[in-house]
Amino acid sequence: MKSYDVAVIGSGPGGYVAAIRCAQLGMKTAIIEKYNTLGGTCLNVGCIPSKALLDSSHHYHDAITHFEEHGIDIPGDVKVNLKQMIARKQSVVDQTTKGIDFLMDKNKIEVYHGMGSFKDATHIEIKGDSDTTIEAKNTIIATGSKPASLPFIELDKERIITSTEALSLTEIPKHLIIIGGGVIGLELGQVYRRLGADVSVVEFMDRIIPGMDASLSKELTKVFKKQKMKFYLSHKVTEVTRKAKEAIVKATDKKGEEISLKGDYCLVSVGRRPYTDGLNAEAAGVKLNDKGQVEVDEHLRTAASNIYAIGDVVRGAMLAHKAEEEGVMVAEIIAGQKPHIDYNLIPGVVYTWPEVAAVGKTEEELKEAGIEYKSGQFPMRALGRSRASMDTDGFVKILADKQTDEVLGVHMIGARVADLIAEAVTAMEYRASAEDIARMSHAHPTYAEAVKEAALAATENRALHS
Ligand code: FAD
Repeated sequence: MKSYDVAVIGSGPGGYVAAIRCAQLGMKTAIIEKYNTLGGTCLNVGCIPSKALLDSSHHYHDAITHFEEHGIDIPGDVKVNLKQMIARKQSVVDQTTKGIDFLMDKNKIEVYHGMGSFKDATHIEIKGDSDTTIEAKNTIIATGSKPASLPFIELDKERIITSTEALSLTEIPKHLIIIGGGVIGLELGQVYRRLGADVSVVEFMDRIIPGMDASLSKELTKVFKKQKMKFYLSHKVTEVTRKAKEAIVKATDKKGEEISLKGDYCLVSVGRRPYTDGLNAEAAGVKLNDKGQVEVDEHLRTAASNIYAIGDVVRGAMLAHKAEEEGVMVAEIIAGQKPHIDYNLIPGVVYTWPEVAAVGKTEEELKEAGIEYKSGQFPMRALGRSRASMDTDGFVKILADKQTDEVLGVHMIGARVADLIAEAVTAMEYRASAEDIARMSHAHPTYAEAVKEAALAATENRALHS
């Protein structure tokens, strides 16, 4: 029987990064993945394919809406070739997952393809093409998550679908009904809206992207409405049925009034659930909580002292970069180091256009905690860079402590803010004040100037360009 210092179950961004860090630290490492390709949800049916489709549909949308104004004439009609769009997305996925094969080879990590299942706390049975059992001194559970649904919805994966099927449709929906106004639903909704689908979003809460600062969801809703996306907020879905090629969604508002929407596709995007099916966690003494997550302490250690768990399968934000940070942290703990993650500084991003990004506390959270703060906001439309690219929607808002000026939260919506948020994370990691950011030189013309201007506005209401 082969024996390892560390076995990692699951090869998503949590698992494969944990495996690399373990190998870098000199540990003999194995990784177990039930699918044929490595990379997990993120690389195969998550972050990467969704961004590939967002990019392709963005090009098409620009061509039909902005090219003429830019002085670019295209003879004849611009048409979508969905088959090619999906094929390009798949080739991006293939290149990216092959990159993980390369990294496993390079770091001498042994890869097992098959379903990993605990026999006890130090033995894992792998059921794949050929069954085998390995021994591991330490194990990292990184089994991720699967799309969640509502108990009364039958996902037929043809017309009533999850994000996984939405990434590989063979036709552009005429009317796509999306249940859930969170990140995944909105990103995929915008893809198909740009390609010509009517898109209706039914959301239980009174706003979309409910976890983010309310000002961001207000601005994003405004932009989406300009793009003719329809929203049914504060609506509780009560029934989803399929009739031939039709998906029918019924929902009631707070007054109990019912709506009935008919579409050709219904995307159920109500979140994700931790995935531990087939893991046989109890055989190793690993405990799950009532949400189905693997229960861990602040060091990501499970109820079994040699077994850790990271990423979507444990508490906290379901984000690839959170899983990665946890992967590194656990590898370093096993190696005897004392790493730390500041969960307050894990940024959240929505890759629609405009993009939305945030780090730290929202205004609602600061109010609830009774923390006195000041706010500086700067509109993207006041930037020369934004006018040059015709991306004038959005703003940057910086929240700083009223007394100390320490930055407590940064909330952005606009072009390329998914990249701009890194500046805010860096600043907050070093506990910068708003004035620290305001006094740093920002290249002109860039979208990043909005960060400096918002910091100036937060410091003493002294933005220079608004
Ligand atoms: P996963 O990536 O889910 O990987 C778990 C792996 O474990 C899977 O490959 C699974 O097959 C394997 N596995 C499970 N059980 C076993 C077993 N018993 N034996 C062997 N293998 C097993 N996050 C972002 O940060 N940015 C984004 O832009 C973003 N976009 C997204 C878009 C979509 C459409 C979706 C669905 C998700 C998106 N996410 C995004 C979320 C992100 O994909 C997850 O947070 C991330 O993949 C979690 O990583 P993980 O390593 O915990 O698990």
